[in-house]
Amino acid sequence: MNYDWKQLGRGVWRTRLPFLDVTVGLVAGTERCLLVDSGTTLAEARGIAADVSALTPHRVGHIVLTHNHFDHILGASWFRGAEIWCAPEVVTSLSAGRDELRADAIRHGADPGDVDRALAAIAVPDRQICYGDIDLGGRTVSVRHPGRGHTSHDLIVVVPGDPAVVFCGDLVEESGDPVIDADSDLAAWPATLQEVLAAGGDDGVFVPGHGAVVGAEFVRRQQRRLAAHRGS
Ligand SMILES: [Zn+2]
Repeated sequence: MNYDWKQLGRGVWRTRLPFLDVTVGLVAGTERCLLVDSGTTLAEARGIAADVSALTPHRVGHIVLTHNHFDHILGASWFRGAEIWCAPEVVTSLSAGRDELRADAIRHGADPGDVDRALAAIAVPDRQICYGDIDLGGRTVSVRHPGRGHTSHDLIVVVPGDPAVVFCGDLVEESGDPVIDADSDLAAWPATLQEVLAAGGDDGVFVPGHGAVVGAEFVRRQQRRLAAHRGS
């Protein structure tokens, strides 16, 4: 295995990539599997693809890109033939916003050659599917936009089960404070986290965009901190 995958339930895994501690999620059905985010580089994506082949016999049929930050989306072009689920803002970044993606990646320490190779390989998704249910064979996961927060267009992936697993993107971060920048909506973020909490329930397993898997209490604490930050 190239990366260390933690199993969160039947056919559900996540790994933390060494570069920026970015989460990649994997959900396998009986016919195909789904990735949540794709890392930054084609080398990372190649490693992920090899690991997926070791974990499940099924091909990656779908990739959900949680939001338009480079560290979650640039590896996606490795997975030719996978259906990309993302918000229109992600499509815009992958087409008109490439210079900005490149600058942001290099500013965060990515290798310029790696970034250029990933950008050159991008196939811009030709249709934009944001929300809905995805049938993986024998199980259905749901892709939702719980509201504005880290960005205007964050998506979460909800995997029903006992407990439910919720891939939160950067609406929740564990290894550092949530990143608040010009694209964030701090006023809306706490209410958005209420939707995230409802999706997983009290016993839910919540997978941050960066960091270790957490429970509902951690998400509630982050919600209170963001609300306090909003008021300061
Ligand atoms: Zn982000």
